[in-house]
Amino acid sequence: MVPIQMVDLKRQYAKIKSQIDAGMQEVLESAAFINGAPVQLFGKELEAYLGIKHVINCANGTDALQIAMMAAGLQPGDEVITPSFTFIATAEVIALLNLKPVFVDIDPQTYCIDPTKIEAAITPKTKAIVPVHLYGHVCDMDAIMEVANKHNLLVIEDNAQAIGGTYTGKDGVTRKAGTIGHIGCTSFFPSKNLGCYGDGGALFTNDDAMAAQIRMVANHGQSARYYHDVVGVNSRLDTLQAVVLRVKLPLLDEYINARRKVADAYDAAFANHPQITTPFRAPYSYHVFHQYTLQIENVDRNAFVAYLAEKGVPAMIYYPVPAHKQKMFAAFGSDEFNLPITDELTTKVISLPIHTEMDDDQLRHIIESVLSYLK
Ligand SMILES: *Cc1c(COP(=O)(O)O)cnc(C)c1O
Repeated sequence: MVPIQMVDLKRQYAKIKSQIDAGMQEVLESAAFINGAPVQLFGKELEAYLGIKHVINCANGTDALQIAMMAAGLQPGDEVITPSFTFIATAEVIALLNLKPVFVDIDPQTYCIDPTKIEAAITPKTKAIVPVHLYGHVCDMDAIMEVANKHNLLVIEDNAQAIGGTYTGKDGVTRKAGTIGHIGCTSFFPSKNLGCYGDGGALFTNDDAMAAQIRMVANHGQSARYYHDVVGVNSRLDTLQAVVLRVKLPLLDEYINARRKVADAYDAAFANHPQITTPFRAPYSYHVFHQYTLQIENVDRNAFVAYLAEKGVPAMIYYPVPAHKQKMFAAFGSDEFNLPITDELTTKVISLPIHTEMDDDQLRHIIESVLSYLK
């Protein structure tokens, strides 16, 4: 059996090697390392894929979130509502900009921010909501947009884990995750569903003025060459990374299907097990399974992870400490937030390997290993 990894990028690369190598070679020979043609072309192709007016590439997903908040003109002291049950970057950039992260609990089924709990967290200082489509499950965007519109708040979707996922609204229209709020942000970190071979990220918006502001902030606040109107950052997608993304974007739906097949097999194997809760799929969300995350009961989770490791099955805890319990936010009094669902799920979740290259032998071995421990 081929050794099992959380994400198997080597075997994925082997299948697209000739295209990637040829594209990279061309960049090396042209020396157009910064803003080469593939960067613009990829932006256009991603716009078409997402059905959005503007894609602005940047250096990584964390930058995308920071640039979104800067472009939106958020000011020190403004409050931003976000889940604590997320990768740290979401909340970190809020604090970095001297904004205040206000953590709201998650829905125990979807792992996404609970829209019914947002309103109670709104104060006169609240300016934005940052929902996170965690593990590839798309948040209940209608409910979030309703609260946001009522209180005139900006919605910045953290779509780092759900690119290619969709949301079907009450209007019956299906839209791509990241294109429903005012700004969408994503990451092309290698292990993401659409990953490059280094760092990369992007922002999406349908708003022309916002797009212009985002482009300016991402490029040293520059409005015309060497004229700088606002304090910005330097955040670009490398040409070499754009080459990789241009090869992989046409394969994204295929990659998502491969992940969903693995998820279906796990679901079938673990259904009705008394100690296991398999991931929920809300009818409005087309889940892209960036992670396959179980909740497990009455188990010493560390011992279970160690047992799986012994069997050659990697497993991860995403995330062992929620944002509001991180030392980073001590100054914000964040540990005083009462987030019982977040606290509980943090102790129960475990993510199994899921990727585009999983074969039947590996899948069988993972399932057998899990079930041989949780009898
Ligand atoms: C990966 C990730 C980010 C950050 O992306 P980078 O490209 O690593 O900076 C932000 N939010 C979430 C939810 C992520 O999973």
